[in-house]
Amino acid sequence: MTGEPIAEALLVDERMIYILCPICGELHTHGSGGLENISYGGRVQHCYWPSKIVPEPNLGYDIQPSERTVIKRDGLATSKDLKQFRGILAESKKNFRAWLKAEEKKIKEQKKREARERWNNMIRKQKQ
Ligand SMILES: [Zn+2]
Repeated sequence: MTGEPIAEALLVDERMIYILCPICGELHTHGSGGLENISYGGRVQHCYWPSKIVPEPNLGYDIQPSERTVIKRDGLATSKDLKQFRGILAESKKNFRAWLKAEEKKIKEQKKREARERWNNMIRKQKQ
């Protein structure tokens, strides 16, 4: 699974892995396959790419644990367990929106430059 974005596993219980999505910045869940042998690795995203301007990245991401991954061994995760990640999730969404906005701006400016160039070339040809 090379070249795919990394999805950080935040919380794992015997049923689910709760991940930070590198595609949209939101929280998603995938099956964990149990705590004995947690099935990290490649998955297909559940979300839609939130931009018509910035091209959609390739489908999928690679789920990986990090130093802040919490493994919950006493039952299934509840919304109370997820509350501890509120700050991380808010930051992830904020960073993602800022990144997307900056990318959209870059692409719009590039298109404007190209349109101006086309126009200038047309004028130049007419003068010849
Ligand atoms: Zn997503």
